[in-house]
Amino acid sequence: MKNIIFIAPPAAGKGTVSEYLVKTFNYEHISTGEILREEIKSGSSLGKEINDIISSGGLVSDAFMIKLMEEKLTKLDKDKPFILDGFPRTITQAEELDKMFITNNITNNIVIYLDITLDKALERVLGRVICPKCKKSYNLSNEKFKPIKDNLCDNCNVYLEKRVDDTEETFKVRFESFINSTKPILDYYKDKEILKSVDATMNLDDMFKIIVNEAKND
Ligand code: AMP
Repeated sequence: MKNIIFIAPPAAGKGTVSEYLVKTFNYEHISTGEILREEIKSGSSLGKEINDIISSGGLVSDAFMIKLMEEKLTKLDKDKPFILDGFPRTITQAEELDKMFITNNITNNIVIYLDITLDKALERVLGRVICPKCKKSYNLSNEKFKPIKDNLCDNCNVYLEKRVDDTEETFKVRFESFINSTKPILDYYKDKEILKSVDATMNLDDMFKIIVNEAKND
């Protein structure tokens, strides 16, 4: 399978698709948002700085994110395909990522854009909760994605939590800033002819099928 770079507005379903690919095709899932949230949880001073940025809807600096990604990519198991979820988010990150791929001899990559409107994404995000232990994501406003027991994780039986950045106001800022900053990245990958846009509001099984087909080695 090819390595996948997911570019998707918040709440487009990157997490759900990634979980499926990890289970079914043994992908390594690298989520920069998740790595940052772990740092926040650790209570470190770096975590506190990151928390201020994330909860105000901003982006963590390119320099920091690039260093983080360089460290991640050099430690990768070369036999596993990987998913990049949340990186690159700026054109500088995209350019640096290309260099990292060359340095680490990583080829066979595709870029998938999960396409969703603000209104649809907002509807999803207001009901979203995650398990603090296994990170499984649920949606309390969608029957298909509710936990079996009210507000408890199906796997771990611990209380589900809302993300600090899942409020309507913060979400709108995040979404708009994502759309504005992503346009040049999409153009960048379009020019390289490795971009595939997928409608993120379609039925999940159909979306999985389309993505798997794209990710299969030719
Ligand atoms: P996510 O879980 O991908 O939506 O990320 C949550 C938040 O983490 C984002 O809103 C950003 O503030 C920050 N973040 C994650 N990835 C990046 C990145 N590649 N560059 C800058 N900030 C990031």
